[in-house]
Amino acid sequence: MMKKNYDTIIIGAGINGCAIAKEISQTNKSVLLIDKGSIGGGTSSKSSRLIHGGLRYLEQFNLSLVKESLHDRRYLIKNYPQLVKLVPFYIPIYKNTPRPWWIIKIGLSVYDLLSGYEAPHKNISIEEFKNIFPNINTKELCHVFKYFDGHTNDLELTKLIATQAQDSGVEILQDSKIKTLFIDDKKIILNINSNEINTNTLINASGAWIDEVNNHFSLPSNYSIAKVSGIHIVLPSLVVSEHLFLQTDAKRVFFMIPDNGKTIIGTTERVETVDIDNIKINQEEIAYLIKMSNKYLKKHISADDIAYSYIGTRSLIHAKENPTDMSREYKLDLHNIRNSKVLHIFGGKLTTFYSLSKKVVNLLK
Ligand SMILES: Cc1cc2nc3c(=O)[nH]c(=O)nc-3n(C[C@H](O)[C@H](O)[C@H](O)COP(=O)(O)OP(=O)(O)OC[C@H]3O[C@@H](n4cnc5c(N)ncnc54)[C@H](O)[C@@H]3O)c2cc1C
Repeated sequence: MMKKNYDTIIIGAGINGCAIAKEISQTNKSVLLIDKGSIGGGTSSKSSRLIHGGLRYLEQFNLSLVKESLHDRRYLIKNYPQLVKLVPFYIPIYKNTPRPWWIIKIGLSVYDLLSGYEAPHKNISIEEFKNIFPNINTKELCHVFKYFDGHTNDLELTKLIATQAQDSGVEILQDSKIKTLFIDDKKIILNINSNEINTNTLINASGAWIDEVNNHFSLPSNYSIAKVSGIHIVLPSLVVSEHLFLQTDAKRVFFMIPDNGKTIIGTTERVETVDIDNIKINQEEIAYLIKMSNKYLKKHISADDIAYSYIGTRSLIHAKENPTDMSREYKLDLHNIRNSKVLHIFGGKLTTFYSLSKKVVNLLK
C-alpha cells in the first residue's frame, strides 16, 4: 500500500537511485523509489564490473574524480567484502603499444599516490607474465606492470544496496510508470499506477534516460547528456585467469576480465541518438572486440566462441568531444521550484555511488 505523501520520491532504481534512497531514509525521511523496470535493470547491470579509480582518467587530468573513486573503492572493499574485492590487473606493454611504458609508469605512480599507497604497483618479469597468461602473446613484449583495482558483481551490488534501503524503510515500486507529474504552489503531484502521490522533493536518478524524463515532464535542468553505449562479449570459459588492461591501436583501453569461470571482454563506445530502450548490439562492434582481442590472443576467437554479449548506456555530461574524452564526472543539478525541490543526477559511475549519495543528502539539508 502506497502512502499519499512521501518526503522524497526518487525516479530510477539503479545503483545511484538505490544508494540515494538508502542515505535519505537514514535521516528519518519517508522515501519512495520507483523504476519503470527492475532494480538494477538499467546500466547498473551492464558495466565492466570494475570498482576503480579509472587509471585512464588521469590522462584527462581528472584528479578529483580519480581521488573520489579511490576513496569509494576503499570504502566498498571494507564494507561489502563479499561483493567488492581488490584484485591484480596486468598491463602488458609491447614494442608498438600506443602509450609508452614510462607514461603508464607515471600514471601508476600518481594512482598509488592518490590511493594512499593502498596496494602499490609493481613491475613484473615477462617470464612471470607468461606463466600467468599462457594464452596471451608475448612476442615483442617489453614491460609488464601489475597494479590493483576493485572487481564486483554490479547487479548483485545494486540489489544489496536496494535491500539495505528497504531495511531502513524505503518503499520500492518496480515495473511502475509515472503517468503525470505537476508542480503546484505547495507540492509535486505524481500519478503512479493510478495513485495520486505528493512530495516536496523529487530526485531524478534515471541515468541515461534523464533527458527523456525531463522533456516528458517539462522539468527544468541545467545540463543534458550524451548517451554513450558500450558492449561486452562473454566467452564461456577462462581465457585469462587474472584481469588484463589492454590498449587498441587507437589508444582506447579495453579489458579481459575473468568472471565466475567466464571471460568478459569490453568495451566499445557508440553515441546514441535514438531512444535507448530500443538499442541493439551491432555486428561491427562484436567484430571490433574480436579483432582487438585477437591481437593479443595466441588462439584466435571468432563470433562462434561468444556465449552472449550485453549492451549498456553511459550518461555523460554533454560535451562536443570524442566520447572517450568526455568526463565521467557527475553533476547534482538542484532546482528550487516554489515550495518544492527537484534534483537531477547527471552522470556518475558505479564506483562513486557512495560519495554521490552522501553529497545528495548534504545538498538537500
Ligand atoms: C559499457 C559500460 C561499462 C561500464 N563500466 C563501469 C565500470 O566498470 N565501473 C564503473 O564504476 N562504472 C562503469 N560504468 C558506468 C556505470 O555502469 C553507470 O554509471 C551506473 O551504473 C549508472 O547508474 P545509475 O543508477 O545512474 O543509472 P541506471 O543503472 O541506468 O539506473 C537508472 C534507472 O532509471 C530507470 N528509469 C528510466 N526512466 C524511468 C522512468 N521514466 N520512470 C522510472 N524509472 C525510470 C531505469 O529503468 C533504470 O533502472 C559503465 C557503463 C557502461 C555503459
